[in-house]
Amino acid sequence: MRRQIKAWLKAGIQDGDKLFPSTEGTPQGGVISPLLANIALHGLEKHLKNWIRGKTLRYPCGTVMRKSRRQQTLGIIRYADDFVIIHKDIEILNEATEITKTWLSKLGLELKTEKTRVCHSLNKHGKEKPGFDFLGFNIRQYKTGKHHANKTTQGDIKPYTLHIKPSKEKYLEHYREIAQIIERYKAAPQKALIYKLNPIIRGWSNYYKYSVCSEIFSKIDHLIFWKLKKWADHRHPNKSWKFKKPKYWKTIGGDNWVFSDGKKNRLIKHKKNYDETKKKTRKKGRKNQGETFKKVQDVRSTYDGDTVYWSSRLGFHPNMPTSIAKMLKWQEGKCPHCGLSFKHEDIMEIDHIIPRQAGGGNSYKNLQLLHRHCHDEKTWDDLKLIAEYQNRKELEKQHNKSIKWFNELFSQEKWKWINDTPVLISTCDKSHVSEEPYEVKISRTVLKTSRRGDSLA
Ligand SMILES: [Zn+2]
Repeated sequence: MRRQIKAWLKAGIQDGDKLFPSTEGTPQGGVISPLLANIALHGLEKHLKNWIRGKTLRYPCGTVMRKSRRQQTLGIIRYADDFVIIHKDIEILNEATEITKTWLSKLGLELKTEKTRVCHSLNKHGKEKPGFDFLGFNIRQYKTGKHHANKTTQGDIKPYTLHIKPSKEKYLEHYREIAQIIERYKAAPQKALIYKLNPIIRGWSNYYKYSVCSEIFSKIDHLIFWKLKKWADHRHPNKSWKFKKPKYWKTIGGDNWVFSDGKKNRLIKHKKNYDETKKKTRKKGRKNQGETFKKVQDVRSTYDGDTVYWSSRLGFHPNMPTSIAKMLKWQEGKCPHCGLSFKHEDIMEIDHIIPRQAGGGNSYKNLQLLHRHCHDEKTWDDLKLIAEYQNRKELEKQHNKSIKWFNELFSQEKWKWINDTPVLISTCDKSHVSEEPYEVKISRTVLKTSRRGDSLA
């Protein structure tokens, strides 16, 4: 491993046939630098966990904690070269910082003091504001009144709640990017501007949709509106708002302010994009809750070969047939028959929800993934369904046969099916005519009388 890293650091740049050797190692922010950081920091988590196991920690009541419990009190979250250490005791945290520093210095790395913060999640700590930013999110606790408070597992009221929001720095950066594009597209047609902005907005709001974001999304949409208004003002400096509003903003689906050219092109709104995904993914019995992010299990890696886990998360996997991966995602990795999650070593089988022999189709709607043993049980239950279906089919066949027979026996005009029985028309004609008021209405009066006084009656 060491040799490989060394080779990467010393790798030069090849341009055509010439090779330019590099002397400065990997540039910061380069493709490989997060990977190197990842390799370097890999042991930190283990090191800190081992350290906390060796410390004597006590519960508030005074009893000593078990080792495994001690390990749980310290939280370490790491992404590339960025990491957060969480503990409720400030002294332990300070100690952990020192240990991290010495551990890093062994590798020739150092903790930058201007980038390191020690803060509290709910209250001010010295001059530091509560909460911290990590990976573009702001993580902070807020005080709540008793009506909004959550409860602990013991039933005690927690007077605070955790909100994870897009960090201020990131959403301002995003807004500035959009503002710049609008500025640059001053003279471009509306369609071009919409095409440029849509993927940016969609991507950004999809990244943050799992957080407490709706307030910030609305805010950005509001700011974008004012930018777009300026854009429109610039295009038509001498025209009134009465001209510009209907030209660039259309009413679509109850929203009077959709930036659109009146055809299919319209600007996505952050809030709307979020609301729609929320609506799509809302589950029964869970009000006002959209898609929630499921954490990747801590020991998982995309290269661990667990095709079932990854395809039920992502809906695709290179080592898994697409149809099965899709079904796994829809079923959230669970077998609908027994309700248990599929494991990597389980044998799965595709089942027709309504059996083919009972008239079920072969489309995705009618397919599901079951354990092999669950599939066997289901097939047993299906036999009844199939028998019923075959019976019904048989009856229908006989019915059709008898109609055919009647048709051969009498000519079509003389009899009709009424309430499942063949009735000769000559005996029930009056009621038959009055059953079709539509026909009577459109026919002329002359015809009407002629029909009433028909010889058939
Ligand atoms: Zn099952």
